[in-house]
Amino acid sequence: MTVNRVQVVENILNANDQVAQLNRQALDNAGAFSINLMASPGAGKTSFILKTIQALRTDVKIGVVEGDTAPVTIDADKINAVGMPAVQINTGGECHLDAVMLKAGLQQLPLPEIDLLIVENVGNLICPAAFDLGTHINLLIASIPEGDDKPYKYPNIYRGLDVLVINKTDLLPYIDFRMDYFRQGVEMLNPGLTTFAVSCKTGEGIDAWADWLRGRLAASRQV
Ligand code: MG
Ligand code: ZN
Repeated sequence: MTVNRVQVVENILNANDQVAQLNRQALDNAGAFSINLMASPGAGKTSFILKTIQALRTDVKIGVVEGDTAPVTIDADKINAVGMPAVQINTGGECHLDAVMLKAGLQQLPLPEIDLLIVENVGNLICPAAFDLGTHINLLIASIPEGDDKPYKYPNIYRGLDVLVINKTDLLPYIDFRMDYFRQGVEMLNPGLTTFAVSCKTGEGIDAWADWLRGRLAASRQV
């Protein structure tokens, strides 16, 4: 009997979804709103998290899970350095986080104290989109140097998004990035997607993002 490859992949995803449900319950019980933050390598994920912490830190306790393919704690160290709890999950070479990995991360954080949990996924535009982690929303950071064709080349990740952040707008004068073309591609895949254009370098656009996030946090507390 040959093993059906499609069936194997389906079984893996079903097992993942069961653990994702448990993660969602744990986060809801703790009153922690959570974001699955995805992007390609170098899009500015950690910088964006640091800017978000800076904008909200007076009244929002933020925890971070850092997914990395190698046992380096560079990103988690940066978050800890600004006084917020962060844990690093080493995926052991895997190119995405899954729900079991996040579960291990959640167990190392003081969840009841945390209002907002940001999960920095592994830098990759393909398989992170296939694994539900149990987080509340999916956010993608696209950055100007990556080019304006990415929604056309990586449609799956754009289809599953709740929020899109376009980072490094300070580089627009130097790079041929057709914002209209990019946004048209996004609109085809995910009509009306909430989008923020920001520069983590200059701080442009961060206030609008932080205001929106405050609104989401307030709404989640009323549920
Ligand atoms: Mg990072
Ligand atoms: Zn992967």
